[in-house]
Amino acid sequence: MKRLAILGSTGSIGQSTLSIVEQFPDRYSVAALAAGRNVDEALAQAARWHPQLVSMATEELADQLASRLRQAGISGTEVVHGTAGTVACSTLPQADFVVSAIVGVAGLEATHAAILAGKPVGLANKECMVAAGEILTAAARERNVPILPIDSEHNAVHQCMRVGAHHEVKTIWLTASGGPFRQTPLEQFAGITPEQALKHPTWVMGRRITIDSATLLNKGLEVIEACRLFDVPPSQVRVTVHPQSTVHSLVEYVDGSILAQISVTDMRLPILYALAYPERPASSLTFDLAALRHLDFEEPDFQRFPCLRLAFEAAEKGGAHCIALNAADEVAVEAFLGRRIPFSGIPDTIERVLAATPEAHPATISEVLEEDRRARERAAQLVL
Ligand code: MG
Repeated sequence: MKRLAILGSTGSIGQSTLSIVEQFPDRYSVAALAAGRNVDEALAQAARWHPQLVSMATEELADQLASRLRQAGISGTEVVHGTAGTVACSTLPQADFVVSAIVGVAGLEATHAAILAGKPVGLANKECMVAAGEILTAAARERNVPILPIDSEHNAVHQCMRVGAHHEVKTIWLTASGGPFRQTPLEQFAGITPEQALKHPTWVMGRRITIDSATLLNKGLEVIEACRLFDVPPSQVRVTVHPQSTVHSLVEYVDGSILAQISVTDMRLPILYALAYPERPASSLTFDLAALRHLDFEEPDFQRFPCLRLAFEAAEKGGAHCIALNAADEVAVEAFLGRRIPFSGIPDTIERVLAATPEAHPATISEVLEEDRRARERAAQLVL
């Protein structure tokens, strides 16, 4: 029985993880939940799963949850809050596996603490790897702690990497749907509205990641994530536009073989893979191969999607540049959604923040967070 700590339990990855626990009650149980701001959902999850520990974002929300648990006659669940509360969840001695699915750098300290405590991590939070991948992977290697990617592309790469040696890998190919503007003429990019950008062709996701998919910045973050997770230089990672999103990614070996992973576009599959690794439990997530007609692959257009070029440049420099790329993008996306900058203002803002960022390699999580704060300030001044 694996006892899980789920960071970000009320978000979509958190809820999908709980549905896996529901399907495999003899394999998984819930030890701790970091539930954020949704008290109703946290209450429902605590009533259903009886975790030892639940963490809420603030003390006020924690008090609300604690009193509603008492009213409902639910005992045995301790309620904590804030970053310290999330860290308490990720390091709970009774938890054997941590699912890291808090969006943004908010989950960074707890993920790092889980690795330091020797707990295997299923990682759905890409900002952690982008901002602090060098620190997290070094800590994981030192303690021999597996980091299992839940992001669909990296999960696919992880699967394809199991069949060959690291030195036999020539290229990691990350697939990209290409977003809604794959075929939009370049001269129309300036007039793209938030409503148009929020329509993603294949995945239903949060607002920031949907915009990041439209600019391909999301794929850029995934390039950096792949470099850190699989210990390869950016020159060994390439992006291919694959509109069907059927092949989740590929690994090309030096002998010329290319291995691809195909499955339904359902996040429960990479979650189950991470939780069960190195086993493969039987599931109902079958792919209808007979219905498959086309697999198209094309080169990404770096001119149309400058965010992808900026991400490769940041990946080369590493450290502070990766932190600044992520932070500046988050600020720029908010400004675009608030109609303060045009669509093309997103890469412009990132490029200017990167130009003002020194080449540095933060060695601790607090230095990473400090660099993140500085980059956000620089970006905020540009999008006023
Ligand atoms: Mg992805």
